[in-house]
Amino acid sequence: MSQPLSNKIQSLPVSQTLAMAAKARELRAEGKDIISLSLGEPDFNTPDFIKNAAIEAINQDYNSYTPVDGYAELKEAICTKFKRDNGLTYQPNQIVVSTGAKQSIANVMQVLLNPGDEVLLPCPYWVSYSAIATLCEAVSVEIPSTIETNFKITPAQLEAAITPKTKLILFNSPNNPSGTIYTKEEYEALAKVLEKYPQIFVMSDEIYEHINYGTKPFSFAAIESMYERTITVNGLAKAFAMTGWRIGYIGAPDWIAKACTKMQGQITSGTNCIAQRAAITAVLANPSQIQYMVTEFEARRNMMLDLLSKINGFKLNVPEGAFYIFPDISDFFGKTIKGKEIKNAGDFSMLLLEEANVATVTGEAFGEPNCIRISYAASELQLREAVKRIKEVVS
Ligand code: GLU
Repeated sequence: MSQPLSNKIQSLPVSQTLAMAAKARELRAEGKDIISLSLGEPDFNTPDFIKNAAIEAINQDYNSYTPVDGYAELKEAICTKFKRDNGLTYQPNQIVVSTGAKQSIANVMQVLLNPGDEVLLPCPYWVSYSAIATLCEAVSVEIPSTIETNFKITPAQLEAAITPKTKLILFNSPNNPSGTIYTKEEYEALAKVLEKYPQIFVMSDEIYEHINYGTKPFSFAAIESMYERTITVNGLAKAFAMTGWRIGYIGAPDWIAKACTKMQGQITSGTNCIAQRAAITAVLANPSQIQYMVTEFEARRNMMLDLLSKINGFKLNVPEGAFYIFPDISDFFGKTIKGKEIKNAGDFSMLLLEEANVATVTGEAFGEPNCIRISYAASELQLREAVKRIKEVVS
């Protein structure tokens, strides 16, 4: 039978982060001793005080549809959080709660982009940004960066990438996959360029905000001239170890929030009521309550940098946040290891999976074909073993 799928779905690439995680699961089920460092998922449990809020919500019979844009109390709590952590003033009508930050991002792109609009993606960028742009029939325009500049783009590069068709730029700091954090001054310099082009909107994905190792991330919308055209995206998955709870949210100009609510109202409606009730407790919690996870991530980052720096051919930057190492492994290109020719990062990542039983993600998925992404959201024991295996294969 013919399978007449739409052009849209046929042109959509598979999410490489999820594909690699699925592959690792599959190999494990076959009995292989796979260490999966592919998925960006904290290996901690959701803190008890959040779990208890969810249990309470169930016992209080929260079971009905919620407002499409989220419970009023949750939106109030998010406004309080934005003020407390980011110095941003949002009113509840500027907040939309969604089924994960991924849906928040998809909502925003769908309500802003027309076919042919250009979306600027400073490299490296999270896999789904370009895929969602493709779904909107928009054109992704990559702005390259390198490990030598700590994966940061310059104002001159930004200006050079802008055309009359540019509609949106995506910033993500701390960055997935590089861990890079833009300083206030660096963001201000980029904003200076954007000030000249009022047709460009900014999506600032701040999902890793709390996972930083000293450099406090700065919210793009806190630049006064950018507030009216910035959409701030955040969520609970990473900092609160709540990936499966699926709570993301935006703070945005009210007309964009209204459009996102309209979009969501036709697709998913309000997100899960129990997760929303628990989210009120999570966003109002003092960030010091989740610091133990950040402290642990920092120790693992330091350990990974130390171990990986001893492998010839691994070029490293020092990630200031998130929980990924993004080494440049282009030194291996053109070599043959274990009988396998390494032409690109995808080949290298496959080599590690097949010969070291370690799952990583190719940098090509993030617009940076010289690198691979290694998630260190895994136990110290697993991380040590993974690096040992990698070293044995490539040395
Ligand atoms: N954001 C995480 C990652 O980059 C989760 C997987 C995904 O949704 O892509 O690994």
